[in-house]
Amino acid sequence: MEELLNLYQTMGISPAVYAYGEETLDRIKDRFAAIDKIAEYNQAKVLSAMQKNKVSAACFAATTGYGYDDVGRDNLEKVYADVFHTEAALVRPQITCGTHALTVALSANLLPGDELLSPVGLPYDTLQEVIGIRPSPCSLAEYGVTYNQVDLLPDGGFDYDGIRSAINEKTKLITIQRSKGYATRPTFSVKQIGDLISFCKSVKPDVIVMVDNCYGEFVETVEPSDVGADMVVGSLIKNPGGGLAPIGGYIAGTKRCVDRCAYRLSAPGLGQEVGANLGLMPSLYQGFFLSPTVVAGAEKGAIFAANLYEPLGFKCVPNATESRHDIIQAVELGSEKAMVAFCKGIQAAAPVDSYVDPIPGDMPGYDSQVIMAAGAFVQGSTMELSADGPIREPYAVYFQGGLTWAHAKLGILMSLQKMVDAGLLTL
Ligand SMILES: *Cc1c(COP(=O)(O)O)cnc(C)c1O
Repeated sequence: MEELLNLYQTMGISPAVYAYGEETLDRIKDRFAAIDKIAEYNQAKVLSAMQKNKVSAACFAATTGYGYDDVGRDNLEKVYADVFHTEAALVRPQITCGTHALTVALSANLLPGDELLSPVGLPYDTLQEVIGIRPSPCSLAEYGVTYNQVDLLPDGGFDYDGIRSAINEKTKLITIQRSKGYATRPTFSVKQIGDLISFCKSVKPDVIVMVDNCYGEFVETVEPSDVGADMVVGSLIKNPGGGLAPIGGYIAGTKRCVDRCAYRLSAPGLGQEVGANLGLMPSLYQGFFLSPTVVAGAEKGAIFAANLYEPLGFKCVPNATESRHDIIQAVELGSEKAMVAFCKGIQAAAPVDSYVDPIPGDMPGYDSQVIMAAGAFVQGSTMELSADGPIREPYAVYFQGGLTWAHAKLGILMSLQKMVDAGLLTL
């Protein structure tokens, strides 16, 4: 398309980068079709939950103060519970982010003397202070909750023998992180998570299993709550907010676990009865409605990036051809300079703040410097096109999001362009 190429050229994309992108796209058409099928299924799943719960304009009204009898909020929680096939859900703008949602779920369900087990290696950076792996005031460790960890085997598989011997009489809750986060291990499929949950429950039937579902929602047709998780937890400025939710987190799970979470979030005795929606219901409902197709667009972007970068000699996790279980694409760039160039490209392609230059800096909750590129309508939203990564070996950027596939494509082409412009590679 001559017209498109001309426009892209005025935006800084060279004909060579564009042509390389088109060649790449030709190879991955079938995968895009498969993603559209999953999105179609998940769209119907969300739609039928909204219909079943009779979502109406009354659900969009703002409430203030205590938020008693907030029908919009209560109904949204029923919609989430139906989509995740759980007894209950807590979906709140008062949950400030994913880390907060996970903190609520953990601290509500672990008491002094209990032990938390991660059978999948070190949890996400920000959770390390929550747990007390890195000491912090108010960590679970400070409250007398101990932590145990079993690393993955060298091939990325579960260490079943290690897990069996790590589960003891104190083990109360097992946390499984679905997505790789800032690690370079593979992301687990829902099937793998189901196998792990079955194993853990065969060793200790009453153990609570929580899945950190960040970035995984709607990538498959099933969720960890379909395969035995007692709680699935995530952020509304990632997948399930569909790019429209300006804040929030969710916990879907058994009534017993979710009730405790609500008591922890507000206060014992108050639970889910309080919490005004402050006028955010339209974007929380509409974002959830859009999420399956937004996730599909982001996943296409991730697959495009892997197929663009891998042939140029950069290791991609997941690689160009393997199946996907979240929307994150890690590209190992091998140097700080390349990370900066890549992130400049993502930033330059953004609808917001496209004129700023990302540079590495310190971030609360992270123990090395981090570079972040994001020009988002919602600050920090990684459902929107963004790239980030800690400045440390193997100098991997974690690329994710894109509210539309067309924007994801342009951002990735721009990242490649900046790498070429910096003399880091030639096409
Ligand atoms: C993003 C993320 C979190 C934390 O979410 P925030 O909203 O950034 O606090 C936790 N776990 C995983 C796997 C994540 O990707």
